Amino acid sequence: MYNYSKYLTRSCWLEIDLDAIKNNYYELQKMVGPEIIVMPAIKANAYGHGIVEVARALETCKVKYLASGVLHEAVKLRKNGIKSPIMLFVGNNIEEVADLYVRYDLMPTVSSISQVKAISEAAGNKTMKVFLPVETGRGRLGINAEELADFVKQVLAYKNIDIVGMYSHMSCPDWPDKESFSQWQYDRFVGAIRAVEALGVKPEFLQIANSNGSISRPDMRLTGICPGQSMWGYSTIERREPAPDLKPAIKAWKSKLLCVKDTIGGKFGEGFAAVKLDRPMRIGVMAGGMYDGISPHQANGGYVLIRGKKIPVASSICVEHTILDLTDCPEAEIGDEVVILGTQGDYEITIQDLMARWKKSVPEFLVSLNYSIPRVYFEEGKPQRVVCMDESQEIVEAGSEKEG
Ligand SMILES: *Cc1c(COP(=O)(O)O)cnc(C)c1O
Repeated sequence: MYNYSKYLTRSCWLEIDLDAIKNNYYELQKMVGPEIIVMPAIKANAYGHGIVEVARALETCKVKYLASGVLHEAVKLRKNGIKSPIMLFVGNNIEEVADLYVRYDLMPTVSSISQVKAISEAAGNKTMKVFLPVETGRGRLGINAEELADFVKQVLAYKNIDIVGMYSHMSCPDWPDKESFSQWQYDRFVGAIRAVEALGVKPEFLQIANSNGSISRPDMRLTGICPGQSMWGYSTIERREPAPDLKPAIKAWKSKLLCVKDTIGGKFGEGFAAVKLDRPMRIGVMAGGMYDGISPHQANGGYVLIRGKKIPVASSICVEHTILDLTDCPEAEIGDEVVILGTQGDYEITIQDLMARWKKSVPEFLVSLNYSIPRVYFEEGKPQRVVCMDESQEIVEAGSEKEG
């Protein structure tokens, strides 16, 4: 194994499996068949996995479109050499920054004529591809389905604007008791599509199905799907056949013991300690706290793994550190590996275990993983690259084919 620890600028890191992300993309494409476009949602820094590395991995899968949410993340992709078509979801301040969409060849989602005008003017002689958002029942952004065709008529006056996609967002595809609501949303969307087609406009990408929608409702896949959480290996619904074989993209979340010491006379942490302090204790401090996304709930019965043992958290969670109760692990030493999420010895802490204790959903957890945590990227089963904050270094060792 490569020794990547010399590239870590903080002793708390995530191990991310790019092969799992590629597998999930291929599995979703296999599930929907070759005629349907899979547009991965890599918004929110690819749900915390790191937008540049994820986009690079997906380019090797020949992805057709990428969906981002924040303009500077999309610009970052271009500055890092990502060539794939990139669309941005609805909700950006397009009138103010239209020139950036043109300069970086990004496809905006436009939901007002003033946005269309701004993009058209900034583009000059160039043709700009745009997406339209359709509100069908999510109660959020987008053009009301019944008003879509009128909007498209107005867009047609702008000769350098090409509508390549129209999409909506299902509210509750994972609630079997709400099937009729999903059906209502879908029918509204299809009605709007038909009205637009009657104007002679036929966008290539028509999509309402997100991760759960695309898995639970094969009849609602239209010409495209937009998976977010299933790209990272999770879905919150019963799998239907043929079920995609999704693999978690986060292999592990690890830390190291920075300090090990005995408390004097059980006086440690009085007032904020989560464990009973009626005895002398051995405590350890690991890197990683609230700043990194560790929930305050981790103090309530939470534990980590050290030397193959379950180690309880000893106090409330600090900003950058967590204090552990090492009393039953006297052999622990400074520098020992700490597993927050993942396997060690006979134990495994899964993301679902952790979320049950932290009272969070998986997507909520993923997007709370801060830039403060270095990401170690695995490909072909090996660590290949470490990204700390915005900087990145290739891991180069003798014999690596990734030299230079
Ligand atoms: C985030 C997002 C998705 C992906 O949602 P998941 O539930 O994570 O699959 C799909 N469509 C739109 C419009 C989104 O904003």
